[in-house]
Amino acid sequence: MSDLARREGSQTSFDILIAGAGPAGLCLAAALENRRLRVALIDRQPLGSLCDPAFDGREIALTHASVQSLRDMRIWPRIAAHEVSPISDVQVFNGASARGMHIDHLDGGAGELGYLVANHLIRRAACQTVREMEHVTLFTDTSVSEVRWEPAGVRVRLCDQRVLRAPLLVAADSRFSEVRRMAGIPARSRDFGKTMLVCRMEHEKPHRRIASEWFDHGQTLALLPLNGNRSSAVITLPGSEARRLQELDTMDFDIEVERRYRSRFGWMRRTGEVFAYPLVAVLADRFAGPRCALVGDAAVGMHPVTAHGFNLGLRSAARLAREIDRAAFERRDIGAPGVLTAYERAHRRAALPLYAATNAIVGLYTDERLPARLARQALVRLGNRVRPFRRALASSLTQVSAS
Ligand SMILES: Cc1cc2nc3c(=O)[nH]c(=O)nc-3n(C[C@H](O)[C@H](O)[C@H](O)COP(=O)(O)OP(=O)(O)OC[C@H]3O[C@@H](n4cnc5c(N)ncnc54)[C@H](O)[C@@H]3O)c2cc1C
Repeated sequence: MSDLARREGSQTSFDILIAGAGPAGLCLAAALENRRLRVALIDRQPLGSLCDPAFDGREIALTHASVQSLRDMRIWPRIAAHEVSPISDVQVFNGASARGMHIDHLDGGAGELGYLVANHLIRRAACQTVREMEHVTLFTDTSVSEVRWEPAGVRVRLCDQRVLRAPLLVAADSRFSEVRRMAGIPARSRDFGKTMLVCRMEHEKPHRRIASEWFDHGQTLALLPLNGNRSSAVITLPGSEARRLQELDTMDFDIEVERRYRSRFGWMRRTGEVFAYPLVAVLADRFAGPRCALVGDAAVGMHPVTAHGFNLGLRSAARLAREIDRAAFERRDIGAPGVLTAYERAHRRAALPLYAATNAIVGLYTDERLPARLARQALVRLGNRVRPFRRALASSLTQVSAS
């Protein structure tokens, strides 16, 4: 029997129960190593797909602060250097205009604005790190079926009837979190009525490590530069159009995608599967409740257009870990209201402006009416002329610590 199975079999009492071993839940578990608090990590996926997840089409744009957090959590060294694609610059275009806003890495004072890493590789690295940590026990192929609140903690029943206890329960089980609902925390969601298609493509002309985004009429396109003459094509369309495009055979797909990108990169050739993500943003009314906290998408599920989702989720995990760590060091109750309120306050301050700004950008850039088209053209021009604006954007990506 493996160490893991032995640990899994016997223990029922923990310091923290984390529902959801996605990137946010795994990173939280890794960040809690210092005080050696006993952590149970619960996920409905089998162990094999958690620790060796399949490619899911997402290329995650990481800020410098996120890379530093992943280093601190000892996850980053498990990601091979050739799997990390640097982003040197970003350019944003409105409609068919060839003049866009250009954010240069020099504006951010660093060699790169950020880095792209495939989501499944982040998950794999995080899972491998956590599996080697003595303080973490994984409960896989199961989920939380019932939560009872007791004076000193929670009592959780899993679908396989095992019962776990802890002074604190953390929901990290996606933007559609069931644990959030069990805790009675409402969330507001916004369905954008669009689907994001993502796939890897080779192309004729070089991307020069520039990430490009076009807010075009009826579609939003992005091309994220991967190592080599490859990119991740990101195409946002109304649901039925996305379905039609996804169902085309490879050759027709390539022709249509090249046309949509106006042959800016010459010919384009798909190198793998096309993945579809319906776009729904979710914001929880509170990030904490009695003996319960929300992290990652369970707290704030962002529209991916501004690439903040995981970066913000990582900040929530690091922030909650810091509050728990402090309470444990001072021998206070880690699930006490004071600890959770401090987390909630700090994370809300960081998340709300990003959430509102992202939704405003989506609203403005997908509005086809003339005033909106003129307003965004003016904004792109203004952004290009006003260096402090570009600098602020660039340094928000390149700064190493995000409080
Ligand atoms: C196309 C796309 C591109 C993106 N690009 C970027 C980017 O460039 N930069 C960025 O920062 N972010 C990006 N994101 C966002 C990022 O992928 C998410 O924010 C991140 O994956 C959220 O992690 P999470 O752990 O909170 O949730 P999830 O990844 O949803 O993981 C949740 C986990 O909980 C488990 N689970 C769910 N329900 C239950 C249950 N009832 N019981 C037990 N387990 C359960 C699941 O199996 C899963 O393992 C992108 C998202 C998309 C869709």
